[in-house]
Amino acid sequence: MTTEALLQPASFSGDLIRPGDPGYDEARAVFNGMIDRRPRLIGRCRTAEDVAALVVLGREHGLPLSVYGGGHGVTGAAVAESGVCIDMRGMKGITVDAGSGIVRAEAGLTWGEFDTATQEHGLAVTGGRISSTGVAGLALGSGSGWLERKFGFTCDNLVKAEVVTADGRQVIASAEENDDLFWGLRGGGGNFGIVTAFHFQAHRVGPVVLGGMLVFPPQMGRDLVRFWRDFMLAAPDEVGSALAFITAPPLDFVPKHVQGTPVIGVVLCYSGPVEEGEKVLAPLRQFGPPPLDLVQPMPYTAVQQLLDAANPKGLQNYWTADFLSELPDDAIGLMVDRGTQPVSPFTQIILFPGGGAISRVPEDATAFGQRTAPFNLHYLSMWPDPADNEKNIAYTKEFAAALKPWATGRAYLNFLGEEGQERVISAFGPEKYRRLQQIKDRWDPENIFHNNQNIRPTKQQG
Ligand SMILES: Cc1cc2nc3c(=O)[nH]c(=O)nc-3n(C[C@H](O)[C@H](O)[C@H](O)COP(=O)(O)OP(=O)(O)OC[C@H]3O[C@@H](n4cnc5c(N)ncnc54)[C@H](O)[C@@H]3O)c2cc1C
Repeated sequence: MTTEALLQPASFSGDLIRPGDPGYDEARAVFNGMIDRRPRLIGRCRTAEDVAALVVLGREHGLPLSVYGGGHGVTGAAVAESGVCIDMRGMKGITVDAGSGIVRAEAGLTWGEFDTATQEHGLAVTGGRISSTGVAGLALGSGSGWLERKFGFTCDNLVKAEVVTADGRQVIASAEENDDLFWGLRGGGGNFGIVTAFHFQAHRVGPVVLGGMLVFPPQMGRDLVRFWRDFMLAAPDEVGSALAFITAPPLDFVPKHVQGTPVIGVVLCYSGPVEEGEKVLAPLRQFGPPPLDLVQPMPYTAVQQLLDAANPKGLQNYWTADFLSELPDDAIGLMVDRGTQPVSPFTQIILFPGGGAISRVPEDATAFGQRTAPFNLHYLSMWPDPADNEKNIAYTKEFAAALKPWATGRAYLNFLGEEGQERVISAFGPEKYRRLQQIKDRWDPENIFHNNQNIRPTKQQG
């Protein structure tokens, strides 16, 4: 029987935090306030050797392992109940080679930290749309962001990863070394090892881009969504966008009578020159026209933080997601009706366009399971009071069920709750899932990395 006193890695340069220690509750908290897990040890790592020491410790004591990147996974898998939490937040080193555009980023960075460092050199990689999201979890699940139609998903820009394996070794994954592992890391999540550093190819972006939000009333919903759909299907790669069913926040720039009412936002980020963006985005900005046009030249880092205030840590969260194969008027009607009658003012139903660079990467180039869907729909229900769990979860499920006729059957794992093994398999499709299982068999046959959207080794199948 393991006791707390025995739970000590052989060597460790970071901080070890145990139940009762100052900072324990803060360290175990994740974005989703529904999650309340108490690991036996949180090891805030400083080096890859620290990570390896915790992997070995967890194995020796037969304890569940979890990996904490930015803590934004909605399932709370970053923290294992009674387990060892391998906390990457002490590893925030970043180096940018301005000449080649290669960025080495340690796995504890958030996107806000990453963007600040890369934008100093006028560079960027497709990254999370909320600045506190972890680089690691997002990139491993593929990584969707405003730049994806121009530069592909985050994982499409990964050129190399430094990885600690299930047996505590440190290896490189790239096209040249351990290419099976490299393939699996690009969309297969945290199943195959713990990435301690990512090497990305960054691109010239900004520092000023044309971005912001257009805000429309619900009455314009059907016409707006149709217009946005047709606009996005023909839009150049530089246009990053989202259509968001939200509740207008109580902020100064929102007219008083609109605050607290359901609205439809069109978020925009044009990643090319601002003057070009003014021309390309003009039709969208003239449509209606929108009562509120907040689109303007702004730093790329500001676009990356536009939605931060609307996504506070600690609310109750229930999420699901689907790719849509098309968006006919019937689907739009259902979406607008439900989206403009949210149960909680914090809830966001967000439709992202596909196309562009993400759809041009060959399907079998990475583990990610769905390249060509024209739309990616996220149901992000958030509310403050646990007493409202039932009605918010029911709203989300009913909404997603209504749109199922247009769903491709694949799923975007970064935005999925715990929806069962069949959903994980269908996210990749059976063929890709089998290939991922073979990689799992090689790199983690005992499935010690199972606190994730899990790819099971073949011996644990069924
Ligand atoms: C407010 C909010 C906004 C979001 N916006 C976006 C978005 O714009 N685009 C998008 O694609 N997704 C987005 N997401 C989803 C996000 O990508 C996933 O939740 C992702 O898992 C978060 O990564 P993390 O490191 O913050 O999370 P964590 O909860 O810390 O990690 C999630 C899982 O990733 C794995 N993992 C983390 N670090 C490592 C590592 N170093 N090595 C191996 N495995 C690791 C583990 O399995 C872990 O359980 C958002 C989530 C939230 C809450």
